[in-house]
Amino acid sequence: MAINPLYARYPFLSAARKAVSATAVDLGTLIADGQPAVERGRERVERALLSGVVDSETPDEWRVEDELLSYPIARILVSLLDSPAAVDKYAAAEAKTAIERFEVDTERGDDGLRSTTTARLDRDTLLAELDLTEAVRPEGNARAGDDPDWFRVGVGHYLQLASGARGDRWRLVNREVVAGDVRVERDELFRLFRTAIRRRVAEGLPFDGLTEGEGIAAELEAELADLRRLLSQRAAVGEIDFVARELFPPCIENLLQKAEESVDLDAPESFTLMAFLTAIGMDSDEIIAFCADSSLAPEGIRYQTEYLSDDRGTQYPPPSCETLSAYGICHNEDDHWQTAAHPLEYYRTQVDAVGDELTDWRERHGS
Ligand code: SF4
Repeated sequence: MAINPLYARYPFLSAARKAVSATAVDLGTLIADGQPAVERGRERVERALLSGVVDSETPDEWRVEDELLSYPIARILVSLLDSPAAVDKYAAAEAKTAIERFEVDTERGDDGLRSTTTARLDRDTLLAELDLTEAVRPEGNARAGDDPDWFRVGVGHYLQLASGARGDRWRLVNREVVAGDVRVERDELFRLFRTAIRRRVAEGLPFDGLTEGEGIAAELEAELADLRRLLSQRAAVGEIDFVARELFPPCIENLLQKAEESVDLDAPESFTLMAFLTAIGMDSDEIIAFCADSSLAPEGIRYQTEYLSDDRGTQYPPPSCETLSAYGICHNEDDHWQTAAHPLEYYRTQVDAVGDELTDWRERHGS
């Protein structure tokens, strides 16, 4: 039976779950056989942890069926990582990719018409899926299928979906409320959708009943080992709150120089740089100032640093030296691996060695 590509693009839809059941594929067998969906599921989680999105870097490699089945596999993998932060980041990444696709689906072409592909998700279907049909209405006389600029969202739903959104503009006191509805612009509505999808994806995660080393979990050991490497431990390094570029390890200095030469960093490179700068205590405004003369765009920095930090502190340290070597980011300059196994460990050693001789960059630049 042919699978509707719409379900592969939006696998959190209830119709997509039914499509998975309709394939009559047994996930345990699929995992034991090492079918392509397993590798794509691993990539899905890796992309979520590294880049905050889940779309494939090699989309032509996967069949619609692989793409659809990779979603339940990714959910199993992220459950087995046993990290609440990993679940949060994964759900946020699924939601971000879904909304990026939805923005494309609802864009009109130069001819003023939308694509008629069956893989396109329309607003009414998404509203129904998220139980928001009654809560969200286009403003004015817009009809179904129109693409208005303004919408009205019931105040209760608005408060639920805007909670946690950063910035004063989301506070109810700063909004126009008309007859119990909050006026929101189209891009703001998409932001609210993103929160609703993130919550939908996170529902039921992590799965109960998975035991490491047993059954499905045993079959996924290699994929889990790969993903755990990305979550390399920061605990051993301890808190660092000191910024001195002179002491950065060569891998990080190389990435900074590359960005300053206006070369675009790829996803693992920008993740590594942002994770390092966040881990040494910088907030997004400081990183934007620090990287002002580079190819890194402020909005990209802000998104990535927001994603790397949460209320529990920095959850995503930069990868270990071994992983950075595998990505071609570390060239083991001066045989650093002898000194430390992690860029943060290396940096801590350097900071401890100079004592009070250096002043924090933030003090030097008045931030
Ligand atoms: S050995 Fe580690 S700290 Fe040194 S350059 Fe490589 S990744 Fe960076």
